[in-house]
Amino acid sequence: MKYILVSGGVISGIGKGVISSSIGTILKSHGHRVTAIKIDPYLNIDAGTFSPYEHGEVFVLDDGGEVDLDLGNYERFLNVKLHKDNNITTGKIYQHVISKERRGDYLGKTVQVVPHVTDAIMEWVERVAKIPVNGDSAEPEVCIIELGGTIGDIEGMPFVEAFRQFQFRVKPENFCNIHVSLLPQPSTTGEQKTKPTQHSVRALRGLGLSPDLICCRSQSPIEMSVKEKISNFCHLAMEQVITLHDVSSLYHVPMLLEKQNLSAYFNKRLGLTKRPKKAMLSQWQNLAEKYDRIQSSCNIALVGKYTRLEDSYASVIKALRHAALAINRKLVLTIVDSTELEEETLKEKPVIYHDAWKQLCLADGVLVPGGFGPRGVEGKIAAVKWARLNKKPYLGVCLGLQVAAIEFARTVLNMEDANSSELNPNTSHPVVIDMPEHNKGDMGGTMRLGQRRTVFQTEDSILRKLYNQPHNFVDERHRHRYEINPTYIHLYEEKGFMFVGHDVEGLRMEIMELKDHPYFVGVQFHPEFLSRPIQPSPPYLGLLLASCNKLESYIQRGNRLSPRERIYITDEESSENELEVFSQLTGDSNSLSSIESK
Ligand code: GLN
Repeated sequence: MKYILVSGGVISGIGKGVISSSIGTILKSHGHRVTAIKIDPYLNIDAGTFSPYEHGEVFVLDDGGEVDLDLGNYERFLNVKLHKDNNITTGKIYQHVISKERRGDYLGKTVQVVPHVTDAIMEWVERVAKIPVNGDSAEPEVCIIELGGTIGDIEGMPFVEAFRQFQFRVKPENFCNIHVSLLPQPSTTGEQKTKPTQHSVRALRGLGLSPDLICCRSQSPIEMSVKEKISNFCHLAMEQVITLHDVSSLYHVPMLLEKQNLSAYFNKRLGLTKRPKKAMLSQWQNLAEKYDRIQSSCNIALVGKYTRLEDSYASVIKALRHAALAINRKLVLTIVDSTELEEETLKEKPVIYHDAWKQLCLADGVLVPGGFGPRGVEGKIAAVKWARLNKKPYLGVCLGLQVAAIEFARTVLNMEDANSSELNPNTSHPVVIDMPEHNKGDMGGTMRLGQRRTVFQTEDSILRKLYNQPHNFVDERHRHRYEINPTYIHLYEEKGFMFVGHDVEGLRMEIMELKDHPYFVGVQFHPEFLSRPIQPSPPYLGLLLASCNKLESYIQRGNRLSPRERIYITDEESSENELEVFSQLTGDSNSLSSIESK
C-alpha cells in the first residue's frame, strides 16, 4: 500500500479536496486502484449533526455514513463508493480509544495522546486503506489521505504526530507528503508572495514531516521566478514545486497537475509499477473543454434557506451542473432564499420580496432541495405552487417532495392546514409524518440513512424511463426522518399526484410524479449523491431537459439528444474519446462511425 498525505498551509478552503481528488484521478487513469481518507480534526463523531452553515452540506454514503462533503469529491472524481470509516474525526478516534480503556484493553496503563491516540490513528488508516471501493473485492493500492485544517492547528497535532511516526512504520518509499499552500497576491503590488508558504513549510518540517511536493495555489499563473524562490527557500527541487492557478472549472485540475509530470514523479517516488493508461484523464479534459465552449444556458432556481454558503448545497449544485453539461447547456443557477418568498417579507421588506419572486419567475425550472425545520418552508410551498400552476419543471428532493405534498393537500385536496408533523405537530391533516423507528430522540445517526431500494410501481413513469434500467428498481441514498403519510395516498392519486415508486415493502413513498405537467417530480431520496460528471443523475437530467423543452423528444428518441445536439458535439470534437464520453453522457451506444454518418 502506498500512502499520499495531503496537508494544508496558510489558510483552509483553497481546494485541498479537489487537488487530492485530482491526484487520485491521475493515478487511477494510470491504472492504479485508488482509495481516499478524509481526516477532520473536530470532536464531532461525524458530520450528521452539523448545520449546513458550519461546514457545508452533509454528504451521505451508501452505508449511511454522514460525512464531510470532501468525500463527495472523492466519489465523483474517482468514481468509487467510500465507507463511513473513510472519514476520520477526532471524535471517532477518541470514542474508540476511550471504549478500549473502559474494556480494560490498556492493562492499567495511563492512556495518552502519544502513543495511544497516535497508534489508534495509524491502525485506523492502515485498516481502512485496504477496504475495496470499486464494487469488487480488489484491495486498493494507493491511499490518499487528506488532513483537514492547516498545519499548526492545535486540533490537528495528534494527526501530524501520527503521520510523523507512520512514515517510518510503512517505510519512506511507501509514504509521501504533499503540502498545499497559498500564494497571496495583494492588489497593492500585484506580486505573488511566497512568505506564508515558507513559514508553513517550516512549521511542517518542525513537526517532523518534510514535503515531497508543494502545491501552490494562486489567482493567476505562477511566474518562474516565484517558483524558483519557493524551490530555494523551501529546500526542494523545481520539479517538486507544483503550481495551480484558478481555472474556469474544476474539470481542468487533473490535467493541469498531470502536465507538471505528477504521475512520473509518483512512479519514481513511490515505485509504482507502470500500467496501461485508461481514458479517464482525456475524459476530464474533454469535459473541461466542452464546459468552456458551451454557449446556450438554462436557468434553474434553487429555492432553499441555507443560501449564505453555496457549499450547503454542494452536491445538488454539482448534480445540476453534470446534467446541464450532458445536454450542452451552461447552468445559470439562481439561488432564491425561500424566506424571501413569504408574506412576512412582503410586509417588512417589499423590495426583497418582489425581487425574490422575479428571480423565481425568470427561471426555466425550479428545484427545492432537502432541509430541516420550519423556517422558510412556507416560501418553499409558495414556490412549488407557482411551479405546479404555471407548468414550470419542478424537482423536489426529500423535503422538496414533502412540501409538494403539503401544497397539493392544501390547494387541491382542500385540507387547509395540511402540514408535516415536523413543522406543525398539531395539524389536523398530517400528510407527512415521522417514521417511528427513526425518531429515537438522539439527533446523531438516527435518520433513515444510506442506500435503499425504490421499486417502480408502473412503466408509465418519467423517472422509470430516465433511469432506463433493465430492472424495475433503483438504489439511491437517503437521509430523512419523516415520510408521506400512507393513509392519504388514495386521495392524492385520485387527483393525479401519483406515487410511482415505493420502497421494497411498499410502505414508504419514494417517487411522485404529477399527471398533466411537463415535469413535476418529487423524490424522497437524494439522487445528487450519486451524480457523476459523466453519468448525471436521472431526476436532475429530467429537470434540465424539461427546462430546455427537450424532455419529450429525448425520451422518444430512446434517451438520446436530437441529431442537431449531437452534431453540435461531433462537429467540433472528433476524437474517439470524446465520442466515448458523449455516448456515456447520452446513453447512446452507437459506434463512432454511425454517429459520424448522422
Ligand atoms: N426534514 C425532512 C425529514 O427529516 C426532510 C429531510 C431532508 O430533506 N433531507 O424527513
